[in-house]
Amino acid sequence: MLKTRVALITGSTQGIGLAVARKLAAAGLRVIIHGIESVSDGERLAGEIGDKRFVGYIRADLSNSDEALELIERAEKLFGGVDILVNNAGIQHVAPIEEFTLAKWDKVLSINLTAPFLLMKACLGGMRARGWGRIINVASVHGLIGSANKSAYLAAKHGLVGLTKGVALEMATSGVTANCICPGFTDTPILEAQIKAKAAAVGGSYQEGVQELLREKQPNMTLLPPAQIAAAVEFLCGDDAAGITGIAMPIDGGWTAQ
Ligand code: NAD
Repeated sequence: MLKTRVALITGSTQGIGLAVARKLAAAGLRVIIHGIESVSDGERLAGEIGDKRFVGYIRADLSNSDEALELIERAEKLFGGVDILVNNAGIQHVAPIEEFTLAKWDKVLSINLTAPFLLMKACLGGMRARGWGRIINVASVHGLIGSANKSAYLAAKHGLVGLTKGVALEMATSGVTANCICPGFTDTPILEAQIKAKAAAVGGSYQEGVQELLREKQPNMTLLPPAQIAAAVEFLCGDDAAGITGIAMPIDGGWTAQ
C-alpha cells in the first residue's frame, strides 16, 4: 500500500529528515526532500537517494510564510497529492530569556511551529478528499517537558504537540492521522553548538562534550541514531498504525521517564 504514496519531508537535507527520506524512499514511496540548500545541491542529494522519477528536491525557506504557503502546491506539481507530510525542519537557539531576542524568538517560532501549521492547512483538504493521509510532526522531548535557556524552542515544540492533538481530532473520521514524535538527543548537526559549549565548559574534547550533554538529561548515555527516529516515522505511515492518532511518542533513551 505504502508504495503508491507521496511523502514530503521538510528539512530533509541532513540529520533526522534525511534519515526519514532515505527510509521512505527505500520502502518504495515517492519522496520529496526539502531544505534551504541550493537547487543543484538538493537535486544532487535527491539523485543519491533515488531515481528522479521517485525522489525530488524543493528549496523553500520556511521562516518566510509565503514560501511555506507555496511549498505544498510545488510538491503537488512534482509528484501529485501529498499523502504523507513529515514536518521535521527545525532550528534551536539557546539563551537565557533575558537575553533572548525577539528576532530569534520569531525565527524559531516561524520554522518550528508556524510552518507546520501552514503546511498542514495546505495539504489536509487533499488528504481528506482521498480518504487517507499521515501527518507526522517531529517535535521533541521539549514538547513534553522543560529545560533552561530554550524558551522559544519549548514554546514551539509544546505548541506543535497541542496543535497536532487538535488536528488529530478534526481529522479523526477521515482516514488521516496526525502524530508527534518526540526525540531526545539525536546524533545530528543541530546539537553541535550545545556540545561545543559543554566541551568548553569542562575544558574537554568534543566527545567529552557529548557525554556532559547526555549526563545531564538522557539516561541511556547514547546519542540516538537518526535511523531509529526514521523507523518510527515509517511505522506511523503504515496501515497498521491507522488507529494511532493524536499521540506524542517519546524516543528519548529514558529522558522523560525521570
Ligand atoms: P538538523 O539541523 O540536522 O536539520 C534541520 C533541517 O532543517 C535541515 O535540513 C535544514 O535545511 C532545515 N532548515 C533549517 N532552517 C530552515 C529554514 N529556514 N527553512 C527550511 N528548512 C530549514 O537537525 P535535526 O536534529 O535533524 O532536526 C530535525 C528535527 O528534529 C527538528 O525539528 C528538531 O527540532 C528535532 N529534534 C532534534 C533533536 C536532536 O537532538 N537532534 C532532538 C529533538 C528534536
